[in-house]
Amino acid sequence: MSEASCAVVLFTGDLRVHDNQALAAAVAECELVVPAFVLDEHLLGVVGANANRLTFLLECLRDLDDALRARGARLVVKRGEPVAETIKLARRFKARSIHVGEDRTPYARERHERLAKACEEERIGLHSHLGSSVVAPGALTPTGGSHYRVFTPYWRAWRALPVRPAAPTPRQVHPPDGLPAPRLPALRSLTSAKPSPELTKGGESEARRRLAGWVRGGLSHYGSTHDDLAAEDTSRLSPFLHFGCISPRTVLERCDDRPGGEEFIRQLCWRDFHRQVLADRPDLPRADYRPRGDRWRRSPKDADAWREGLTGYPIVDAGMRQLAREGFMHNRARMVVASFLTKTLYIDWRRGAAHFASLLLDADVANNVGNWQWVAGTGNDTRPNRVLNPLRQAERFDRQGDYVRRYVPELADVEGRAVHQPWLLSAAERRALGYPAPIVDHAEAARELLARRRG
Ligand code: FAD
Repeated sequence: MSEASCAVVLFTGDLRVHDNQALAAAVAECELVVPAFVLDEHLLGVVGANANRLTFLLECLRDLDDALRARGARLVVKRGEPVAETIKLARRFKARSIHVGEDRTPYARERHERLAKACEEERIGLHSHLGSSVVAPGALTPTGGSHYRVFTPYWRAWRALPVRPAAPTPRQVHPPDGLPAPRLPALRSLTSAKPSPELTKGGESEARRRLAGWVRGGLSHYGSTHDDLAAEDTSRLSPFLHFGCISPRTVLERCDDRPGGEEFIRQLCWRDFHRQVLADRPDLPRADYRPRGDRWRRSPKDADAWREGLTGYPIVDAGMRQLAREGFMHNRARMVVASFLTKTLYIDWRRGAAHFASLLLDADVANNVGNWQWVAGTGNDTRPNRVLNPLRQAERFDRQGDYVRRYVPELADVEGRAVHQPWLLSAAERRALGYPAPIVDHAEAARELLARRRG
């Protein structure tokens, strides 16, 4: 009797069973499938301190195992070097091929090249599937260029492309005999850092629930309220997209042709935009995309005040405290705090991006660095010297001050819009608050920035 054919599916940034091209292709190709995830020692070293992302990741893996179990299989979880561990599994189960969800970060590309070499040596077929973008990096290029540098033309070209059909969701996944039961490590064996107290729960089930709720609820008024800090009227899907608990294609399909859909899909396109820049400019996490001759200030004291949410500018401090509390920050607040660090304090965007990466659930090389460079004026912004005035931003996007009161407990009793300018309160009132005075004069700092950049 001939042996049943077997394939390994290596899950990476696609922790889901719906619209998962790698899983669907493995099930279509072979009778038996080994679903596997490797906790990469290298990445654990890099992101080890981000207890938030690790907490979320473990929840994703638990949920993925549940989904696979409902289909007859289990998720094999290994810890170590992903290429070696995957090849070991393929040998053990005599797999003839490996299907992998491919990503295009510099590290993922290097890992993929090593995997391709090992598969060639072992005579195992390797099939990669790009499901983490709607449009794969490099699939769209402008005339005469290797990537789009400006968003609007990219958005037009991106929107005009037909969307690929969804990968079928397998009803059954047949594992080979002897598939080990998953052993998920405890968080404390991966990091000594403590997660933020109010993290969103991870996993595909939660992502699908959230998307369904979003389509029924927030989406229709996204265009008018997505910048309202207190309303929290955004989808909060970014961590789920980052871990691939839901495919961006599914999000697009569910939101298309609905009220609010176009504005929302335009935001989703930003994700692919930054990915195609990074794929072509792998030095982006370190080097300025468009150098402006900046000689950044080194001020550990100011950088610490920013990180701790103690700058004396309530809207900035509220954003930074939301990040510490939830591992998440509203997009408008991200822009305000990033502008404050790079343009008001004139501190290197790399320091801000590193702090975000240590706490954000959705921290993602392309989006984090791309957006930081955009705000710092070293990236793709066509108006690189615009400076966001924290007070004006607060008055526009936190009209009644509710966002500040929610995240800055020292200011919780200051009523109305007065919360945005505590320095106008009486000396006795200010003393009673225990909230710091502004560490810098914003207007003066903005003038200095322009002088530096022009000079
Ligand atoms: P929604 O408003 O509901 O938008 C839907 C989806 O569109 C998001 O989930 C996200 O995938 C995508 N999106 C929206 N805005 C952007 C954008 N500007 N760039 C790229 N994709 C976008 N986003 C990340 O996913 N990871 C990061 O590490 C990250 N770092 C950022 C750093 C800075 C300094 C700034 C200004 C923005 C950053 N963003 C990052 C973009 C944006 O803030 C988040 O994607 C958004 O706040 C996530 O919330 P949401 O899912 O509710 O977004």
